[in-house]
Parts: sequence; C-alpha cells; structure tokens
Amino acid sequence: MTDTVSFGYEDVAPDEKTRRVGGVFSSVASRYDLMNDAMSGGMHRLWKDRFVRRVKPRDGEAILDMAGGTGDIAFRLAESGAAVTVADINPEMLAVGMERSRKRGFEALIWSDQNAETLSFADRSFDAYTIAFGIRNVTDIPAALGEAHRVLKRGGRFFCLEFSTTQWPGFAEVYDAYSHRLVPQLGRLLAGDADSYRYLIESIRRFPDMPAFEAMIRDAGFLRTAVEPIAGGLVAIHSGWKI
Ligand code: SAM
Repeated sequence: MTDTVSFGYEDVAPDEKTRRVGGVFSSVASRYDLMNDAMSGGMHRLWKDRFVRRVKPRDGEAILDMAGGTGDIAFRLAESGAAVTVADINPEMLAVGMERSRKRGFEALIWSDQNAETLSFADRSFDAYTIAFGIRNVTDIPAALGEAHRVLKRGGRFFCLEFSTTQWPGFAEVYDAYSHRLVPQLGRLLAGDADSYRYLIESIRRFPDMPAFEAMIRDAGFLRTAVEPIAGGLVAIHSGWKI
C-alpha cells in the first residue's frame, strides 16, 4: 500500500484515514438515516431498492452485507429469506442498526464488528457480498476487494453501490455546487457536524471513476465484471463473479 491515502481532499497516512473515518461515522451514526434522506431527497431509497433487485437474493442464501452500517441494505436483502450478516467496522453504526432491526422485527440478522480489509470469516462462506456507499471509506480498497473474493463461494456474486462521476452535461456543475456548499450546511443544521459531511462529499470526488474501479475489481480476481451507471453515473452498481 502507498505511504498516503486520501481522506477527502487531504492525503494522510493509512492509519490516520482509518481513525478519522471512524470519527466521522461515530459522529453521524445517530443522525445518519435522517441525513441520507435530507441529502438525497429520498433518492437513496430508490438506489438501494434497485441495487438489491440486481443482487436477486434468494431464500436460504448466505449474504454478507459489508460496511452495512445501520442496516438499509440488509433489511431489503433479508425480505427474500436470505441469511444476512451485517458487518461494519464502526460499533456506533452497528448499534443504531441493531436497534432499527429490533423495531422492524428482523431478528434473524447477524451483526458483526469487522474491518473489510481483514475479515474473520472462513474462505468460501457466502453466496453474495454486498457493499453500499462503503468502499470509498475503506483505507486499503484492494485488500477489501481481495477479502470479498476470498469469503465468497465459487459462483458467488459481488455487488458494490457507490457514488461515481455523472456524465450528464450541465448536471455535474449543479451537483458540484450543491454538494460542496449545501451538504456541509445540511450536516451542520441537522447533525451538528459540517466537517463530517464535507469529508463525505470530498471522498466521492477522490474515488476512482467507473473504468478504474472496475479494473480494481478484476484485479481482485473477479470475472464477468459489469457496471450499471444510475443518473448518468452519479451512482453506479459494480458487479463481478467469483468463478
Ligand atoms: N451500507 C450502509 C448504507 O448504505 O446506508 C452504510 C454506508 S455508510 C456511508 C459507510 C459505512 O462504511 C460506515 O458504517 C462505516 O463505518 C463503514 N466502514 C468504513 N470503513 C470500513 C472498513 N474498513 N470496514 C468495514 N466498514 C467500514
């Protein structure tokens, strides 16, 4: 791994990124779901629905929802009857998720404190691996992709939902102005924390574009990789198979 990694627009030592990302999610955990609705105008719900339709979870499958946070993807996956493990590095995000899960009656979910870079699960444990809005926060992305490949069974599917780069003419400028100016203000007003939301926006800009990220997925050993841009690439679903 290189000497520095991006933390938003800053370049920092890998340990520092992991620590500061931890601070961001500990700070926003209790307001995370409210802020997602406020920042995306509810759109994140539609993107997550579309993502889970692509995964096509089935009754009895074992699925790992990595960086699962407060459980949005896991709840959708579990409706199929799949056995879902929600894993995240941040105990505060997991605690909010467990409470939401209890209220919604999703008692069969397994919640697990894990770093995506060094999973404690055995090789070939899962039929599918999902990660939504998580990978750009991971310090060593190639290590996390390698672990995703390791814990999937042969024939297992990898799916990633992440912000990307919109190619719609004119929209990029509007979105840039909105995200850099308004999102930190919303963060300050609704979550009492502008800096964390500034990081979340800056980290989107530093994330590799669709072809570069697809190449990283292939480098981790996945085959038949594909990318489905949403809203011209504002958000993208990347997928691949362990064959
Ligand atoms: N997947 C959820 C969703 O779509 O609402 C939560 C996404 S939230 C933006 C990003 C999550 O990634 C946080 O819960 C954070 O703790 C987690 N995360 C960051 N780095 C991680 C790592 N190295 N391993 C596991 N989880 C990580």
